[in-house]
Amino acid sequence: MSHLEIKQIPVLNDNYVYLAHCPDTDDTAIVDPAVVGPVLDGLKEMGWTLTHILNTHHHADHTGGNLELKEATGCTIVGPRADRDRIPGIDVEVGDGDTYKLGKAAAKVFDVPGHTKGHIAYWFEDSDALFCGDTLFVMGCGRLFEGTPAQMVNSLAKFDALPDQTHVYCAHEYTQSNGRFALTVEPQNQALIDLMAEVNDKRARDIPTVPSTLGQERATNPFLRPTSPDLQSTVGMLGADPVDVFAEVRRRKDSF
Ligand code: ZN
Ligand code: FE
Repeated sequence: MSHLEIKQIPVLNDNYVYLAHCPDTDDTAIVDPAVVGPVLDGLKEMGWTLTHILNTHHHADHTGGNLELKEATGCTIVGPRADRDRIPGIDVEVGDGDTYKLGKAAAKVFDVPGHTKGHIAYWFEDSDALFCGDTLFVMGCGRLFEGTPAQMVNSLAKFDALPDQTHVYCAHEYTQSNGRFALTVEPQNQALIDLMAEVNDKRARDIPTVPSTLGQERATNPFLRPTSPDLQSTVGMLGADPVDVFAEVRRRKDSF
């Protein structure tokens, strides 16, 4: 069992990519390499050598660096079995319930369709680290490009079963606009109000709001709270099916 060392690297407009390093074996992965240059710079800064790419889904802002990094380092590319044909250079296919070991650090893999059909997440339990791509964001969730509300609710339920202290290493800094929206559907939520004050302060100083924790998300993220009476009554759906409530909240967010 090994505790990963994690380095967060901001790239493009609002993406985060993550270097994850096993200190016992020196294996080092990049999660969702959107680009190449900043990844190589980060490796150099940390003195780490790339051995793996872990992809969560096929979008170009998550796989854009795959082939060039593989060419440069000979690293192994791990990605979703369900989307093998859309992951450039994939070597190892993983899916729901699989365990993938990065050195001595074990990741449990979840299938989390919704944003894309083949989206997966990697949960390194011993490191309290969840790499969830574009499925869960701080106070938000990914747009449903290829999946249904029912699929996404089922995917998010897998995260909702993880411990409070799990760090949510999501792939975008969307927090501030997510929070503004969250307040429109759950205006009485004091945890949300307090968090937004903190987020506004951090963003004003250009400090990342990612990672959050699952405990924080459970308390503030409207997409994990379709059973909240405050939220349900704000959208006029008190007592409705949580999937229908989720779908309505997602629909509102799409046009926010
Ligand atoms: Zn995406
Ligand atoms: Fe993305």
